[in-house]
Parts: sequence; C-alpha cells; structure tokens
Amino acid sequence: MSDATRAPLREEVDVVVVGAGFGGLYMAYKAREKGLSVQGFERGDDVGGTWYWNRYPGARCDIESMQYSYAFDPELEQEWDWSERYATQPEILSYIDHVAKRYDLRRHFAFETAVTGATFDEATSRWRVRTDKGDEVIARYIVLATGCLSTTNLPAIKGIESFKGPIYHTGAWPKEGVDFTGLRVGVIGTGSSAIQSIPLMAEQAKHLTVFQRTPNYSIPAHNRPWTEEERRDTKANYRQIRANAMTKPFAFDSFSTDAEATKSTPQEIRAAFQRAWDDGGLGYMNTFADLLLVPEANKMAADFVREKIEGLVDDPDLAKKLMPSHTVGCKRLCVDTNYYATFNRDNVTLVDLRETPIEEITAEGVRTAAGLVPCDAIVSATGFDAMTGTINRIDIKGRGGERLRDHWADGARAYLGLGVAGFPNLFMITGPGSPSVLTNMLVSIQHHVDWIANAVSYLDDRQIANIEPTTEAENAWVKEVQEIADTTLFPSCGSWYTGSNIEGKPKVFAAYVGFPPYAEKCADVEAKGYDGFRLTPRTQAAE
Ligand code: NAP
Repeated sequence: MSDATRAPLREEVDVVVVGAGFGGLYMAYKAREKGLSVQGFERGDDVGGTWYWNRYPGARCDIESMQYSYAFDPELEQEWDWSERYATQPEILSYIDHVAKRYDLRRHFAFETAVTGATFDEATSRWRVRTDKGDEVIARYIVLATGCLSTTNLPAIKGIESFKGPIYHTGAWPKEGVDFTGLRVGVIGTGSSAIQSIPLMAEQAKHLTVFQRTPNYSIPAHNRPWTEEERRDTKANYRQIRANAMTKPFAFDSFSTDAEATKSTPQEIRAAFQRAWDDGGLGYMNTFADLLLVPEANKMAADFVREKIEGLVDDPDLAKKLMPSHTVGCKRLCVDTNYYATFNRDNVTLVDLRETPIEEITAEGVRTAAGLVPCDAIVSATGFDAMTGTINRIDIKGRGGERLRDHWADGARAYLGLGVAGFPNLFMITGPGSPSVLTNMLVSIQHHVDWIANAVSYLDDRQIANIEPTTEAENAWVKEVQEIADTTLFPSCGSWYTGSNIEGKPKVFAAYVGFPPYAEKCADVEAKGYDGFRLTPRTQAAE
C-alpha cells in the first residue's frame, strides 16, 4: 500500500516528531494546524506504527473499532465505516492510510529512517536530532511518538541462532505474510499476540506446538459485523460517546457499575460474570467495581474464567494446564476468538514449560526437559520491552549532557508521562507514568497531543524558550503513580506493565491508573500556567 518516498528533509524546524503511528500522525497534523514546521521520522517504510509491525494472523484491536478511532474531526468520523466490532490489523492500517492521505501527512515524514540520537544545546535551546541515515535536524521541540509496545523482545534462549528454519516475532511480522501450510510450527508465549494468532495458525499448520510458561485469562471477543443501525447510532452520538469515554477509568465508553462483588449474592455474581462473558471483551473487568481492588473479588472473576476453560477444553488435564492462577488483570486481559477450544484439535499440542522448561533451541527445533520438539518454523510471541525500550535505544542527552537512559537507570521517571526533568522541550506521547496502555490508546494519544500543542502555543505567545519539569514535580509524580498502582491489584504479578518480562529491567509500574483524575490533573497544570514545569523566558535562556 505504500506510496511513501523519502520526503526532502528540513534542516531546521519547530518540531521533530519521532514515529508515524497514531500519535505521530496526529502530532504532525496538530503542529501544522498551529503554524509550526514539522520534520517527522519513521523507521518503517510507511505510516501505521503498531499496526504497521503487528501483521501476524488474527491481529486485531481489543478496543471496539468505533471508539478506537480519531475524534478530532467529525467529518472523518462520519465518512469512515468500520466493518466489525473489533477491527482487524489490515482495516486499522487502511484507516491510518486514509487519514494520512486525507490530511496529507506523509509529506512531513522521512520513512525508513530511525532517530538514533538527540542532544539538547543549552546555548541555543535547540535539539540536534540525528538519524541512521546521517541526517541532522535542528528543532525547538522533540516529540517522542514512539509507541508503548514497539521494541520486540526476542528471548535469549540458548542456541536460538542455530535454528535452521525461520523465527518470526509477532511484533515484526513479514509484510508479505507467512504460509504455514504443511509445517510444524512452535509458538513461544501465550500473551495477547499468541492468543489471537494460535487459532488461525492451527488451522493452517500441519502441527502447532504451544510453549506456555504462564497461562493467561482470555475472554471471548464475540466479534461480529456492525449492523447498519449500530453504525448510524454511533455516528449520530459520537460527541456523547467520546465525552463518556473521558469519564471512564480506561477511557472507553462501556458498561460500568458501582456494585461490588464482595457485597453481592452468589446468584448476582454469577449472572453478572455470565453477562460480561456473553457480551465479550475487556468489559469483563468492569463487571464489579472491586475486581481490581480486592483479592477476594478478583478471585471470583478468576474462578469464573477457570470454570469456562474447564468447559471449553475436552481433556481435563489439558484444561488444568491452561488455567491461570494469577490475579485477573495484573497481566493484560486477553480477548480471543476460539483460543481455548483450539487445544481440542488433533494437530495442537501444549507444552507446559513449568513442568518441562525450554533447555535450548537446536537446528531442529525446541528442546525441553522432556526432549526435542521438531519445528520447521518458530513464532516468538514473546512481547516487548514496553514503555521505555524504544526511547532508551535513542541516545538522548539533556542538560549537562545527561543521558535519558541514565536518568532512567532505576526505572522510568517522568512528570505526567509527558516531560522529563533535565530534558527541556522534549515531550512524550503516552509516556511512562501516564494512563497510556491501561486505556483506549486513541483517547490518551489525542489527549496528549492536544495538551502538548496547547503548551507550545502558550510558550510561543509568551516568548518562553524552555519548558521542563522540576525535579520536585517529577519525584512527586513518580511517587503518586506508584502509590495509586499499589492501591490496586495491577502490580500483584510480574508483567510488562512492571518491566519484569525483561531481564535486568528495573521493576516500576509504568502507567497511571485512572484516566479521569489524570486528565483533571493535566488540565489543572495547564490552567496554572504549567504548574510543576520550569519555564525559562527567551531573554534568560540566551544569557
Ligand atoms: P506479552 O503479553 O508480553 O506476552 C509474552 C508471552 O511470551 C508471555 O506468555 C510470556 O510468558 C512469554 N514469554 C516471554 N519470554 C519467554 C521465554 N523466554 N520463554 C517462554 N515464554 C516466554 O506480549 P504480547 O502477547 O505481544 O502482548 C503485549 C501487549 O500488546 C498486550 O498485553 C497488549 O497490551 C498488546 N496487544 C494487544 C492486542 C490487542 O489489541 N488485541 C493484541 C496483541 C498485543 P510469561 O507470562 O511467563 O512472561
């Protein structure tokens, strides 16, 4: 679909935008609307971000399509028709393509170009941004729209380089697709990407072996085409739906309740979980208000899913192996079509790595404690160095030459997930410490871009050269993010939310829980003239 070429570079601009996914594209649009010049960079050969890279079979968004869309232009809302409740990766990519064309956004980006470094020059208050193509661009602001899940994690399993067949990572899937017909395929991992792709790969492969380290909770998607009436209703009520989403903890408009499982009768509890199961999707976590707060309530939600697994999987021993034991929601809940039932197929085998761990990968396949599993191809559905991985790969130097990755040596630190102390005029879209991955990303992205665009207008109107969080504000925010997370069950198990999926990564809960209070705080900071940020007038900065 790409008609992208490398646009001529601008040597000096107001804003450098890194990444041409949903965040970067809207940032470019918004900056242009404000009269700012933009140079964007994107390492892929076209727009799309997450949806450019994650082309594995079955890739879909787990937020309903009509809400997982831009809200900034009512005309765009009215002209685009989403076909299904949960959009496929190709449909989302064609939506992004439509947006890029409609607003002529590709011209702002250099594609197949990765930003490798950015240095803040204190004398001029400018960022000097470098790329792997040898470019150097000077900018007043740098906006990192690098995505939360964009650096793949390929586990360092002994012998992995000796495998004679192809190894595919779900997050870097070949554009041309993969045909598994007649092949013995091994899948490592049972997170969202695996759970979406396993049922489809099983239909194609000669044999599929799933290497499971931790079983996961998955709720049926009950995906289906939207009816004409639903599309019409949504389009007629878009403003209200968008406004409702902003009032919900996870920033999508859905059923919510004050009812608590711990104060409900067994009949009420069963009926509520069954309703949520029948409705499908992530709304399962909204069944009761205390599910992510009280272990006893959470266990009820977990027991219900375990019971469903028992009913869906024919072999009781296999069903047991597929039953998770951790808190529901501490690892992101999965949404599937036919996942558990796929294990009833004759050509699918589960290897429980808790019983028989992987010892090595050889030329022939995967060797576990129980012996060799021969494979013609391996799919690594092993996730991402989330939240900080991509930013840390860029050599970013702020005041006094301090490296951002050193500033984050003990875990990511940022004020509001938007800015970092000592790194003036650098903004992150859905950065660590913002609600980001716990929410409908489209809402969080647009909220951040709008906030950043307003901030830049404010600074320019007042001849302000630099904006940067104070150390005190950053410290207080980092503390608050952790304290709020600790009132919930989110940090109760190892997950990519806490960084524990990456060896040696500091364990910090990376997201702010609760969109509405967060948005209120951001509005308050803005209303108070960027409270918690230090603003330096141009006259002083030049001294
Ligand atoms: P993930 O949730 O991090 O899952 C990675 C899986 O690989 C886990 O089961 C993990 O096991 C396993 N694993 C990692 N290293 C391993 C090793 N050395 N040996 C064996 N197993 C290993 O990654 P993901 O599935 O790509 O999903 C990441 C996030 O992307 C999701 O949580 C979601 O936010 C997003 N996503 C969304 C959708 C959607 O919208 N529907 C789809 C896909 C992804 P452990 O649990 O034991 O570590």
